[in-house]
Amino acid sequence: MKVLGIETSCDETGVAVFDTAIGGAAGLRAHAVYSQIALHAEYGGVVPELASRDHVRKLLPLIRQTLAEADLSTRDLDGVAYTAGPGLVGALLVGAGVARSLAWALDVPAIGVHHMEGHLLAPLMEDADPLLGPPQPPFVALLVSGGHTQLVAVDAIGVYRLLGETLDDAAGEAFDKTAKLMGLPYPGGPQLAALAEHGTPGAFRFPRPMTTRPGLDFSFSGLKTQVLLAWQGSDQSEATRADIARGFEDAVVDTLAIKCARALDATGCNTLVVAGGVGANTRLRAKLQADAQRRGGRVCFPRPALCTDNGAMIAFAGALRLEAGQSSDAAVHVTPRWDMATLPPLAAA
Ligand code: ATP
Ligand code: MG
Ligand code: FE
Repeated sequence: MKVLGIETSCDETGVAVFDTAIGGAAGLRAHAVYSQIALHAEYGGVVPELASRDHVRKLLPLIRQTLAEADLSTRDLDGVAYTAGPGLVGALLVGAGVARSLAWALDVPAIGVHHMEGHLLAPLMEDADPLLGPPQPPFVALLVSGGHTQLVAVDAIGVYRLLGETLDDAAGEAFDKTAKLMGLPYPGGPQLAALAEHGTPGAFRFPRPMTTRPGLDFSFSGLKTQVLLAWQGSDQSEATRADIARGFEDAVVDTLAIKCARALDATGCNTLVVAGGVGANTRLRAKLQADAQRRGGRVCFPRPALCTDNGAMIAFAGALRLEAGQSSDAAVHVTPRWDMATLPPLAAA
């Protein structure tokens, strides 16, 4: 089954084709992402109306480009998957409108995909360990993105139990806000991480929030304030900025790793799946990899380009559900706020 995936939940237009007959990383026939970063940079954040309008401009050319790269025509498609939420309502409606219209014209089924389920399942489409294959539920998922920081027990595909989440800022949001307060240009998360590579470990030590008491929730907004105070009280040199960046990154990475270990202990799972933009962070990947080795467990990530928003994860998650016989009705309907625990299981219980 060849499924076109369309992602427009925020400021990236993503399009991909996933072929279930091939599967794995090779099943991803083509994928393209157009980022609106430059458009929003002068405002220091995403402007929803500008995002919607830019998706309108970019989506059809990107679909044509992706199909050409996959050497396919629209008539080869067996289904269309689109992000139906959570996200910005106007941005979501652009993707949903195009996806539904295309599916209607081609007379193929379409399905609205939950953006975070897309992130969560992305590691399953990668060619993982040749012996172990892709991660199989039950496992624990750490979702770390611009809008979410969640630990989720994945009992089966589509059966998600929230174990813990952030009480304030998401991890990606904390990276972006911390970068901004130290004067890095928008969106600063990846730049802060790059800067941290030049910093001296231990030069600045920040607390690991909420790790000294039990529980699986997170809080990152206090850390941001700690960084602000350290930055304001410093010489504000390039070297100090890198040292603070390193101290901040180490605090976030340690905090995430401590809670992941706790979630694995609580659920009795030995497989951890990590997804979302912060999953691209080199230090987080290395730390969780080392922890997994020590525990005798396993950690799986998507390649960095599939950690941040993309159409591939939507094509893949949609393809799994379409193949299971699920589809959405012909209405152009989106769900800007959407709890992943309300999703139907992939297979009938
Ligand atoms: P959500 O998925 O919750 O709706 P989103 O789609 O905006 O939010 P993603 O695209 O998954 O989020 O991830 C973007 C976030 O990831 C940004 O906050 C960005 O700063 C962060 N990020 C990307 N690369 C890195 C990195 N190498 N280190 C740390 N953070 C990173
Ligand atoms: Mg984005
Ligand atoms: Fe996302």
